[in-house]
Amino acid sequence: MKDIVIRKLSERGVELVDIAAIVSELQKPYHPGLTPEVSLSTVLAVLDKREVQHTILVGIALDTMAEQGFLEDPLCAIVSEDEPLFGVDEILALGITNVYGTIGLTNFGYLDKVKPGILRLLNNHPTQVHTFLDDLVAGVAAAASARIAHNIFK
Ligand code: MG
Repeated sequence: MKDIVIRKLSERGVELVDIAAIVSELQKPYHPGLTPEVSLSTVLAVLDKREVQHTILVGIALDTMAEQGFLEDPLCAIVSEDEPLFGVDEILALGITNVYGTIGLTNFGYLDKVKPGILRLLNNHPTQVHTFLDDLVAGVAAAASARIAHNIFK
């Protein structure tokens, strides 16, 4: 299952190193010795969780269905246009963020505002729908950062 999730993310333009880069950026001030390898292994640890895997699969499926016109309107239009008042994308991603407690939530809020790295690219993609994916990626990065903050190195 984890391999399928990683492949799906890659098919949608997200590599794990992109997520790890966000984690490194978030946690550098608190853990100056944090290596890219540890950030990446922490992202992989987050992706071990079945709850996280399911959330990612649902979100990517909805993005893809909207992109291909397989959702009914008005939902199709709302997801395709990433309507600002939609909010279900953020709510879904909280299922990932919550895995490592409250710090994850704070990190997620920050990433949602600042949109560093791959998050900005996803948000500004000219043709693909990434309404759910940007929040899923922010959720994984936030959870991985929280995991590091809790000093759970793996
Ligand atoms: Mg979104």
